[in-house]
Amino acid sequence: MDDCIFCKIAAHEIPSTIVYEDDKVVAFDDLNPQAPVHTLVIPKGHYENIVDGVPADVLEAMTHAIAEVAKIKGLDRGFRVIANTGASAGQTVMHFHMHVLGGKDLGEGLI
Ligand code: C5P
Repeated sequence: MDDCIFCKIAAHEIPSTIVYEDDKVVAFDDLNPQAPVHTLVIPKGHYENIVDGVPADVLEAMTHAIAEVAKIKGLDRGFRVIANTGASAGQTVMHFHMHVLGGKDLGEGLI
């Protein structure tokens, strides 16, 4: 997608702090972190959200990337994964992404 900021990050057209990358996904630190560790995992291909026909191999690659991020960032005590889906859920960038949050005690609440 021409005007998609995350497509541009995935293509290295816009700089980001990349934590992990393979042929299918990129993980980079969120510009506006909500926790000591706040990394976004995105597919290189453009899908609007988690239910936009994301192929199984891409979902598997994202799961693998989340595990790599957790290892690289030392999230051995746990972390939270969030995929805001749609505007009413707070999705502001319409390129599927998973937030990986950790580095502090996040408590028990979901929202
Ligand atoms: O789930 P949502 O769409 O709200 O999350 C988008 C996230 O992308 C935000 O946390 C925002 O800080 C991040 N972002 C970023 N770099 C950009 C644009 C947005 O890290 N260039």
